[in-house]
Amino acid sequence: MVRYIFITGGVVSSLGKGIISSSLGKLLQSRGYKITIQKFDPYINIDPGTLNPYEHGECYVTADGQETDLDLGHYERFTGIRTTRDNSVTTGRIYRSVIERERRGDYLGKTVQVVPHITDEIKRRVQLKASLEDLDFVITEIGGTIGDIESQPFLESIRQLRWELGSSRALNIHLTYVPYIAAAGELKTKPTQTSVKQLQGLGIQPDVLVLRTEHTLGDDLRRKIAHFCNVDVDAVIQSQDLPSIYEVPVNMERQGLDAICLKKLGIDPGPAPDFGEWLRFLERRKSATRVLRIALVGKYDLQDAYKSITESLAHAGTFHDCKVDSVFVNSEEIGRENVGRKLEGMDGIVICPGFGNRGVEGKIVAAEYARVHDVPAFGICLGMQMMVIEFARNVLGYPDADSVEMNSSTSHNVIDLMEEQKSVTMKGGTMRLGEYGCDLVPGSRVFEAYGGESPIRERHRHRYEFNNRFAGEFEEHGMRLVGRNPESSLVEIVEIPSLRWYVGTQFHPEYSSTVLRPHPLFMDFIRVCRGDGNA
Ligand code: GLN
Repeated sequence: MVRYIFITGGVVSSLGKGIISSSLGKLLQSRGYKITIQKFDPYINIDPGTLNPYEHGECYVTADGQETDLDLGHYERFTGIRTTRDNSVTTGRIYRSVIERERRGDYLGKTVQVVPHITDEIKRRVQLKASLEDLDFVITEIGGTIGDIESQPFLESIRQLRWELGSSRALNIHLTYVPYIAAAGELKTKPTQTSVKQLQGLGIQPDVLVLRTEHTLGDDLRRKIAHFCNVDVDAVIQSQDLPSIYEVPVNMERQGLDAICLKKLGIDPGPAPDFGEWLRFLERRKSATRVLRIALVGKYDLQDAYKSITESLAHAGTFHDCKVDSVFVNSEEIGRENVGRKLEGMDGIVICPGFGNRGVEGKIVAAEYARVHDVPAFGICLGMQMMVIEFARNVLGYPDADSVEMNSSTSHNVIDLMEEQKSVTMKGGTMRLGEYGCDLVPGSRVFEAYGGESPIRERHRHRYEFNNRFAGEFEEHGMRLVGRNPESSLVEIVEIPSLRWYVGTQFHPEYSSTVLRPHPLFMDFIRVCRGDGNA
C-alpha cells in the first residue's frame, strides 16, 4: 500500500524544502522502503527549460530528457533514485493536459473548472508514479509558499487526497521559518502560527512541522508552537542551519522525523535506519583537510546556477579526502590581460555550460590559459564547445573559428547546429535532451576514467555539436575525439592526451553524480587536480 507525504512551505521561500524532502526520502530508504520524490511547481511554464538561471537556478535534466527544477538534482544525489519526467510537474503541464482533453471533447457538455478538473488532474499526477513503479512512499514537494495565489489548486488537491486516502495513507509536513529578532534577543513563532492558520483555513492540518531556525529552539517554544498549531510536541522538529546539507538527514533522524511520520501513518518504525555509508561519507568530508581551489568559469554569478557541478566536485573531493573550494570566476571579466591573475593558484578549472554570447570570449581565454599552462580543465557542454573553438583558433590557426550559436556566418563553424535542430522553431523542450549512448575510444583518458566501460550513457541538453567536417584536423593536431554517439557519430568527448587533464564533454556528467557514487569523470578530474599525476 503506497503512502503519500506532502511537503509544503510557509513564511518565506528558500527554506530548503528540497533538502527536507530528500532527507526524509533518504531516511525512509535507509529503512528499506522504496521511495520516490516529486516536485510540483505552481508556475505556468511547462518546464523550467525556458527559464533563465537567475529565476530558479540551474535547470536539471532527468535521464528521460525532462528539464526540471534543481531540487530533482538533490533528490537523486541524496537517494540515488533515478527520477523521470513524471517526477516534475508544473501548473503549465497540468493545464495543458486538461485543455488538450477539453479540445478532444472528453468533457463534452461540461464547464471545465479549476475544481474539479484541474484538481483531478493534479491528484492523478500525484499518484501517477505509484501506478508505474512499485513504491512504498511518494514524497511530493509543493513549490512556492503558502499564500501564493498559484499554489491554491495544489493545496486543494492535497486536502482532497488526504480526505479520500485517509490519515494512514497521507501525511502533511509543513516547513516554516522561526526568525531571530536580534534587538529583542528572541526567536519569534508568530509567522509559523500565521502560516499554519492559513493552511488550516484551506482545510489542511499539518501533521508534522519542520522549523527552520538559525538558533536552537527551546522545548518551551516547541510546546508553544505545538499548542497553537494543533500538532504533537514530538512532531515539532527543528532544522537548524548546518555546515553541510548532507548532515540534514542525520539531524532529522536524531529528532525522529522518519519515525514520527511512520507512526502517524500507522507503521511501527522498528529499529533505527541503517545509513552507515552515509555517515562514513560525512566523517570523511569532515576530516578532509587539504583544500582544492577549482575555478568555475561561467557567467551566472549566483550560487544555484551551477548547483550540480559544485556538488559533483564536492562529492568527488570527499572521496579524495579534499575539500573543494569552488571559486566562481565571471567569464565576462576575463580577458587575455588578466587571465593569469584571475586563475592564479587554481588547482583546476571547470568551463561551465551556458547559452548565448555573453561571457563566451572569457571562457575561450580561460580554455587557452588552461591548455598552455597545463592546468587540469574540464569543459562541460558549452565549456567543451569553447575548448574546441579555442583549439581551432589558436592551434589550427582559424581566427574566425566559432560556434554558429555565436556567429552564424563564420566559415570555420567548428561548432554547428545539429541537423535535426535545423527545422526546430519552438524553444521549449526541443533541445537534444536526456540520455544518449557514447562509445569511448579504448586507451583514452576517459576510457580509463570510466574503468574501461563502453558504451556509457550520459545526459544531454544542447542544440549545437562538434562539426565532424573538422574531425581529421583536430585529431592530427592533438585534440582527440574520444567519445562518439554510436548511431549519429556526434562527438561527445574531446581530450588532449598530452596534457595532465584536458577533457570536454558535450553531455552533463554532473546530472548523474550522487553523494555515494560520484561520477567517474569528476573523480578522475579531482584526482589529477590533487596532483596525483596522470592515469
Ligand atoms: N548553448 C550550447 C548549445 O546549445 C551549450 C548548451 C549547454 O551548455 N547546456 O549547444
